[in-house]
Amino acid sequence: MKKKVLLHICCAPCSASAVKMLRDGYDIFFYWYNPNIYSEQEYKNRKESSVKYAEELNVLFYEERDFFYNYGSWKNKSSEKCNLCYILRLEKTAMFAQQNKFDFFSTSLLSSPYQKHDLIKQTADNFAYKYMIKFLYDDFRTCFYESKNSLRQKGYYMQKYCGCNKSLNERLKVKKVCRSDTAQ
Ligand code: SF4
Repeated sequence: MKKKVLLHICCAPCSASAVKMLRDGYDIFFYWYNPNIYSEQEYKNRKESSVKYAEELNVLFYEERDFFYNYGSWKNKSSEKCNLCYILRLEKTAMFAQQNKFDFFSTSLLSSPYQKHDLIKQTADNFAYKYMIKFLYDDFRTCFYESKNSLRQKGYYMQKYCGCNKSLNERLKVKKVCRSDTAQ
């Protein structure tokens, strides 16, 4: 029998490479816990697309409903807010995995080349130790683009920013700067 992995899923496109790399060896279960995704509509879009992906794969989808749009106060530096964000999501995942007798937990956050990969790994390792549940690590970045594109071609929702309010503002700022560059 395959071992059971609770895979924290931040969105469908990022989870695709984790699924590709884990599916043959493990039974995967999705765990949705992303309370600081801003806005409500964005949260809904990402969740619906993740549910659709779970249905396509025929995997169970667990959901933890919380909304903390301002989590990680915007006064924090970028690295601090991401650290808090990883703690928030991974602690809950590790706890759920331990309480529900999974063999491992992991996260689709390890798929994105835009995330702080080593910090995610370190944070997950800490919670694995604290809750006595194994953390399944792999570098899911290796097939990120290929997997993401396969979902794009199937019409899945593709987000334009990491998720929180601040990442949206940063994205809008970059767009504004680019527009003023073009205007010069
Ligand atoms: S930028 Fe992304 S990882 Fe960092 S706090 Fe915002 S949602 Fe979390």
